[in-house]
Amino acid sequence: MPLRLFVDFDGTITRGDVGNIFYRTFGGAACDELVKRFRAGEINARECFRGEAKAMGRVSPGALGDLVDAQEIDPSFKGLVAFCRDRGVELLIVSDGLDYYIRRILARNDCGEVPFVSNSAALVRPGEDKCAEVSVAFPHSDAGCDRCACCKRNIMLTRSAEEDIIAYVGEGFSDRCPVRYADIVFAKDVLQTYCQDENISYYEYATFDDVVARLRTLLDRSRLRPRARAEAERRAAFRHES
Ligand SMILES: [Mg+2]
Repeated sequence: MPLRLFVDFDGTITRGDVGNIFYRTFGGAACDELVKRFRAGEINARECFRGEAKAMGRVSPGALGDLVDAQEIDPSFKGLVAFCRDRGVELLIVSDGLDYYIRRILARNDCGEVPFVSNSAALVRPGEDKCAEVSVAFPHSDAGCDRCACCKRNIMLTRSAEEDIIAYVGEGFSDRCPVRYADIVFAKDVLQTYCQDENISYYEYATFDDVVARLRTLLDRSRLRPRARAEAERRAAFRHES
């Protein structure tokens, strides 16, 4: 049974929420207000991110790059990448953040080969001072649900086969939906509370060393089995789509 591993980026691979830092450093309090309205259900994720990008105004590419380069990843992530390579586990990063910083952070940390799916950002309309606007796009949004801008559930379901076992590692808001569809869940921070409230069984982790140790045990010791409720949720999602 092939194992596929999906991992959140902001706050899971990186120490901080880079997306939030990215928008807020340049967009200021207007971004807090947008996030508040999004959490209250008044605007959707795309409206929130578009508004935040607009609030950033014209930014210097150098300043933006420096900000991104100051972000740290959990150093144990490299161990997970090596483990997946050695054991033939397909690893994919799924993020409601932006390709602009994900690509740069992965490359800077020698993980540039790890594939990811996310929203995208480009610097457009540069002026003579080289400052430019940040334009965001959402190529992976779901037609029927706008809680997230990048639909991790759809990515997981389209990237895995029926017989695959799906493992997911996350910590925050945008991980609440995908864990419902995953057979093996690794959760920390607020995602733990969500899993407890929703009766989703999960493994608590602090670093990727914990994830690797658990996956090694699962792969060595037992036949991987799907989680019955995740399997039912996946079937229901496919029925809904067709
Ligand atoms: Mg996160």
